Amino acid sequence: MITVGITGGIGSGKSTVCNVWAKKGAYVLNADDLAKQVMVTNAEVKQQLVDHFGSESFLDDGELNTKHLAKEAFEKGRVKELNAIVHPKLPAAASQKIEEAEAQGYDIFVYEAALLLENLEPGSLDYIVLVLADEDHRIKRVKQRDNSSEVEIRGRIEKQRNFEKATDRADYVIRNNGTLEELEKKAEIIYQNFLN
Ligand code: ATP
Repeated sequence: MITVGITGGIGSGKSTVCNVWAKKGAYVLNADDLAKQVMVTNAEVKQQLVDHFGSESFLDDGELNTKHLAKEAFEKGRVKELNAIVHPKLPAAASQKIEEAEAQGYDIFVYEAALLLENLEPGSLDYIVLVLADEDHRIKRVKQRDNSSEVEIRGRIEKQRNFEKATDRADYVIRNNGTLEELEKKAEIIYQNFLN
């Protein structure tokens, strides 16, 4: 099984590429989804979340109180604290998913993460794909997708690394400044390359 990491800034088009690959049969794991799973299943993480962010971190049925945690993390500037609890557990959780995907007979495993390059263990993935798009396109697209304001989106972009400077870390760079169809075509070509 081939393992692929895909990264890029907010609104660059990562999920769109992953959707194309998933349709072609890839197992796609999104880092945010994995983090949420870890937060409700890992006993140590759960305890730390309660210790740091209060018992309101979980709802009565044991589900994550995403509203509360998002407020604590983003509005109160405690993202780093939250990440410090959850991120160390992600490599092992991702490895388990890779094993599951392999056992289920998938040819390609894709890990989608904005913080991929920060948390990557050297040699742990076969290919790295970086998706880039100009800021004006990203702002317009995210505005439409999330109904968020330009100020909010610019704030999030500023907090991320400059992905344009990370091209040397990628095996494939996708530039997404054209149409959706063009992006999908690029995604298909790269997928084919993985398989060849
Ligand atoms: P995030 O990091 O915020 O999750 P992302 O990198 O996964 O973002 P997508 O969700 O794939 O980005 O794309 C952002 C939005 O822009 C989506 O609504 C998507 O449909 C749209 N989009 C992506 N590429 C194009 C394009 N080339 N033309 C028009 N719309 C696009």
